[in-house]
Amino acid sequence: MKTIEDLDVAGKRVFVRADLNVPLSDGRITDDGRIRAVAPTIAKLVRAGAKVVVASHLGRPKGEPDPQFSLAPVAVRLGEVLGTPVAFATDTVGESAKATVAALADGEVTLLENLRFNAGETAKDDAERGAFADRLAELADLYVGDGFGAVHRKHASVYDLPARLPHAVGDLIATEVAVLKRLTEEVERPYAVVLGGSKVSDKVGVIDNLLGKADRILIGGGMAYTFLAALGHEVGISLLQKDQIPVVLEYLERAKENNVEFVLPVDIAISGSFPDTKTHAPVTDFAVVDADGIPADKEGLDIGPKTRELFAAKLADAKTVFWNGPVGVFEHPTFAEGTKAVAQALLDSEAFTVVGGGDSAAAVRILGFDETKFGHISTGGGASLEYLEGKTLPGLAALEG
Ligand code: ADP
Ligand code: MG
Repeated sequence: MKTIEDLDVAGKRVFVRADLNVPLSDGRITDDGRIRAVAPTIAKLVRAGAKVVVASHLGRPKGEPDPQFSLAPVAVRLGEVLGTPVAFATDTVGESAKATVAALADGEVTLLENLRFNAGETAKDDAERGAFADRLAELADLYVGDGFGAVHRKHASVYDLPARLPHAVGDLIATEVAVLKRLTEEVERPYAVVLGGSKVSDKVGVIDNLLGKADRILIGGGMAYTFLAALGHEVGISLLQKDQIPVVLEYLERAKENNVEFVLPVDIAISGSFPDTKTHAPVTDFAVVDADGIPADKEGLDIGPKTRELFAAKLADAKTVFWNGPVGVFEHPTFAEGTKAVAQALLDSEAFTVVGGGDSAAAVRILGFDETKFGHISTGGGASLEYLEGKTLPGLAALEG
């Protein structure tokens, strides 16, 4: 792969596919980690005298403009982080984009509006995606791929556009891939993996590959209830992926054969309803029960205190830890203890620690941990999981050659 240094960017229009898909609450950015992560790449291009055209998606709009997914607040924050104003184009390939790009002087930066306001960005149809990529290509002379969080997507700006322009890999993706190599090719043992979060079906797949790599797999978050149900326990109204139960049982079986230790929660923090993560209204029916004792009308929302200790013990002597997915609904303080304990255990260990996943990374920062104390905080949850699954990532393949 070529790097930015291999391109002659001075005076050229350089399209930077970034991942600026930050969490927003009422139009306010609640965690700017992804903006700060790609800023050094943009700053480097600015210093080299490029005309920098930054583009990203935000959320999941339906292929047409939708104000709640506008990147306008991100342009402001990006400007603050860079210390230089960022011109914002109110469309992606329309009049505003063309005019804003045309007005760029060397060393100036523009951010285009949300790529997913165009159906062509995510289209399954190659021709439709290609047509959109053609229009994006008109805005630039060179392409830098640095949106790690989107490299597992076969999208126009990720996959089709680099085929149309001389391209290079950005510094963020280069770093992310180097870290993932350390988790796959030259891993130091014991290697422990913590999986949580709510996107159970997205994450179960990675276990398949981890069974041949990891020494311990700790399961928390929403995924835990599919495992507990597979063991025949009542899980009440907790998140449950019934169709995954046979898959999970097979994993438990294979883990035994491969000498991989599965660590499941032994106690659970519950409530009769999902907590209010906006107002943080007190939870009036909070309780902790054994993992095989969840009442039928209750929902598991965090690991309990015994599990926090168990997980900490299983992480204490690890040499490598990969963590993806909060182990509880950390957005409410009552159910943040498990996620805090996992983050603390990572810091207390001497392991090379990697945190992947948008919400996991945000949790670390929102709960007040110093992100520089972790080995690496990945900007891509799905992308890092698919890499660890051994899949070919379209956005990385497109940057080869
Ligand atoms: P990431 O973005 O790190 O990959 P996910 O998007 O899969 O993680 O999941 C993050 C979400 O999982 C958080 O919003 C958290 O509230 C939620 N979560 C964690 N544990 C549970 C649980 N037991 N029940 C429901 N949601 C949960
Ligand atoms: Mg998430």
